[in-house]
Amino acid sequence: MASDLFCTDLVRRFGDHTAVDRVSLDVPAGTFFSILGPSGCGKTTLLRLLAGFDRPDSGEIQIRGARMNDVPPNKRPVNMVFQHLALFPTMSVGDNIGYGLRRQKVPAAERTRKIARVLEQVGLPGLEDRNPQQLSGGQRQRVALARCLVLEPTLLLLDEPLGALDLKLREQMKVELKHLQKAFGTTFVYITHDQSEAMVMSDQVAVMRQGRFDQVAAPETLYRNPATPFVAGFVGDNNRLSGDVISVDGDLVRLRLQSGEEVAGRIAGEGIATGRRADLFIRPESLVMNGAVPDGYSRMQATVTTTLFDGANSRIEAGVADQTIFARLPQDGSVSNLSPDSAIQLGWDPQGATVFAGEPV
Ligand code: ATP
Repeated sequence: MASDLFCTDLVRRFGDHTAVDRVSLDVPAGTFFSILGPSGCGKTTLLRLLAGFDRPDSGEIQIRGARMNDVPPNKRPVNMVFQHLALFPTMSVGDNIGYGLRRQKVPAAERTRKIARVLEQVGLPGLEDRNPQQLSGGQRQRVALARCLVLEPTLLLLDEPLGALDLKLREQMKVELKHLQKAFGTTFVYITHDQSEAMVMSDQVAVMRQGRFDQVAAPETLYRNPATPFVAGFVGDNNRLSGDVISVDGDLVRLRLQSGEEVAGRIAGEGIATGRRADLFIRPESLVMNGAVPDGYSRMQATVTTTLFDGANSRIEAGVADQTIFARLPQDGSVSNLSPDSAIQLGWDPQGATVFAGEPV
């Protein structure tokens, strides 16, 4: 499929700080693409380059094959939704949505038709004459989206648009945004520091750290096959156990933990060799306990420190030498009998744990 957005080696420096460091992107038409990373990693700077509010020091931006580097923001086929929605408070919903159309000199009758249609598409039919103050937070969010989508941009850039909403509304809007993106077929480039937002909504996620992309992949791939320790730790809950590599066999590696126990996982990334430090990442839900550990699983002894009831599951925290590991286990009798200081055995499928080379000792 043709790319809506194609960037090569984008760099943006502020003094001696490189905020965007050789970022390349290829986003096919109709994709929900998220850029996920912690505060300060360069997400907003990158989005501003795409929107044209700022210029890269080097590298190229193409939208549908056309070079954009020298094209001003208002001439790019791009629209942007900000965290703070900035609807015009004194204008009706209809006038807010029609604002861009009027600037494009779209005739009044066509404007009215387009406004009515987009309001229907975002689930707010007939609200043209309302004032933004008369709307709920979620409705205002939809009007802000409608205002952009009505202009039929090639790309819609979204800068943490759910950040200002309360938790419940945010959960609801995640699902709605994804539906709207698919219904309109517009390519979304969405930035967020919230991994659950990125995972739920996106077709592709770029995990950004210190100005660079660590990995660009579908959410499930990021979760199952993280390319770096940072991705393993940032996307979803994960346990990290450090040890020394004692053997490598095909794609499996065995480590000795500080407790003296030997555990196994699948090699991910470069630099794993006998005698070197390595980190094993294991998801809380990949752990099983005591009698539930099948043959062939890696296993270790642990001492329960805390058990927390978490609805359908229990969250067990347990100590392994000087490290803490947590498990998400089904809420059944085996869990309710546990108390702090209980000795348990935790096991996992070695293929379901990823091992990265650690810092040299
Ligand atoms: P957040 O999630 O907190 O918004 P972010 O990932 O969007 O963070 P950016 O705002 O892109 O991060 O900032 C990346 C880095 O570049 C930061 O260290 C920031 O201080 C720096 N930076 C951003 N804009 C400027 C500027 N105009 N001048 C100097 N430094 C800047």
